[in-house]
Amino acid sequence: MAKGRSSTRRTLDSYTVKSINKTIRAGDCVLMRPSDTNKPSYVARVEKIESDSRGANVRVDVRWYYRPEESIGGRRQFHGSKEVFLSDHHDIQSADSIEGKCTVHSFKSYTKLDAVGNDDFFCRFEYNSSTGAFNPDRVAVYCKCEMPYNPDDLMVQCEDCSDWFHPNCIDMSIEEAKRLEHFFCETCSSGDQKKLNNSHAASRHSEAKVDGKRRRR
Ligand SMILES: [Zn+2]
Ligand SMILES: [Zn+2]
Repeated sequence: MAKGRSSTRRTLDSYTVKSINKTIRAGDCVLMRPSDTNKPSYVARVEKIESDSRGANVRVDVRWYYRPEESIGGRRQFHGSKEVFLSDHHDIQSADSIEGKCTVHSFKSYTKLDAVGNDDFFCRFEYNSSTGAFNPDRVAVYCKCEMPYNPDDLMVQCEDCSDWFHPNCIDMSIEEAKRLEHFFCETCSSGDQKKLNNSHAASRHSEAKVDGKRRRR
């Protein structure tokens, strides 16, 4: 649509959205106002900023991040509350519908955040909006339930095999898991040889690795 008039349009390096007093550049992740105000803001990556020949009528070419509930498969148990998928779906939007900047972290850097703010998201999958396919289409699974890691969930790590477990799946309460100093999974704590190893291992480790539940503000 806008392509036909592209010869008369200028590409801008940056644009300041007056309503939020923030300067946007290509590559920035932004929150965009949805037409339905009951819905959460859309998350997008700005690919290009353009204006008309007089520098007015500024539009952004965005690539949408889909929230799990917007994907064909819907939200799954392992999807984090701040998880988004980088889609192949582009749109041209008015730059003034940008209502804030945000950060889309890699999965790894997201799990290392000390605190998760409203504007923090993470992305571990690319998403094909017409087929519903994900890239990568496989991801490591953990625990007896063989689920991919949901960074919102507390998990405990076995000091022997290094697998991670949901307290629920090993008949443990969240409180018990938080108090745990050492943890060996069922498989690793069965068998005499293993038990011997465990007692040695226990003396070498000062605490069990318990990944804290991520908090949202
Ligand atoms: Zn589990
Ligand atoms: Zn184990």
